Amino acid sequence: MKTARQLKVLHQFYTIFNAWGDQPVTACTAGCSTCCSRNVTITALEGVEILRWVVSRGRSPWLARVLANSEPVPTPRLTTNEFAAACLAGREVGEQEEADLSPCPLLERGYCQIYPVRPLACRLFISSRSCQTGQAAQLPEYYLSAATILNQLTEHLGQGEYWGNMLDVLPALLDIREFAEIAAGIDPLKPIQARLRTRRAIPIPGFLFLEREEKTVGGLLTALLDGEVDGQRIADILNGR
Ligand code: SF4
Repeated sequence: MKTARQLKVLHQFYTIFNAWGDQPVTACTAGCSTCCSRNVTITALEGVEILRWVVSRGRSPWLARVLANSEPVPTPRLTTNEFAAACLAGREVGEQEEADLSPCPLLERGYCQIYPVRPLACRLFISSRSCQTGQAAQLPEYYLSAATILNQLTEHLGQGEYWGNMLDVLPALLDIREFAEIAAGIDPLKPIQARLRTRRAIPIPGFLFLEREEKTVGGLLTALLDGEVDGQRIADILNGR
């Protein structure tokens, strides 16, 4: 699947999700960045979109500086679809790596510097109570199931490509010629080490939502699969047709 088409599908996911009628009410407000940590996983597709946007804004030196100064982050042991496959097979999944909750380096003066192209994980972070007072985010269970479905579909879309922490996937992609200006600003060993920490995205093995979530989460899944890109159903595109 070509990247341009994959990106159109990803944008349709965002549009359909934003229009989903069962979005919970949130306490999130503009300027709140409490949940902006280094614990963000992305696919290569989302990484390409971020890098292109940064290059188009003339901010390659800025991103090179951010990536050059970024320390390695714990790598999740399983991708979302690997986790789903293990659960569906009844296998023990164990604990994922401990999350690094220090501030995301793409955050400056409390604002995300790549906001228009922020990855799916960041779009899905919400809370029904304010986290600014130090309380953990709170979300309805069905929303977590819906977020997992979106993560699974996005991983499926990028299957075979890098999947991992954003601070590894971004440098991992710097061998693509259009990002040479960013690559020139960082130690050449860094992308190689970052690639070793990434995993590969895999296809969807099945979904995990509960029977009682059929109306809310099931409805969202149907809308996502029935969405269209260039006149073709997203389900067919995901099935390689
Ligand atoms: S990429 Fe932007 S929205 Fe996502 S965690 Fe970093 S600063 Fe926050």
